[in-house]
Parts: sequence; structure tokens; C-alpha cells
Amino acid sequence: MTKWLLKCHECGTEWYLEVSFNIAEMGKIYHYCKVCKKNTFHDVLKRID
Ligand SMILES: [Zn+2]
Repeated sequence: MTKWLLKCHECGTEWYLEVSFNIAEMGKIYHYCKVCKKNTFHDVLKRID
């Protein structure tokens, strides 16, 4: 598993996501935001090793 730092486009919250694949290539992903309580676009800021 790899940890990634994501940033929600709508509320600006930064949080970590653990996934088993490389999401950096996508640049951004559509994912559920706990703050917005809905799916939003997130920037993939960096990988945390
Ligand atoms: Zn959000």
C-alpha cells in the first residue's frame, strides 16, 4: 500500500489515502470527501513513503 496526500478541490482539505496502485499518473482523482460529504475532484499532491 502507498499513501498519497490528496487535496479536495471544493473545500481545500488535505488528507491521506492508502491505495495499492499509482494514482500520481492521473494527476487528480474523483473520490469521496468527508468534509464535503460527497464525491469531489482531488489533486494528488504527493506520495508519502
Ligand atoms: Zn471537500
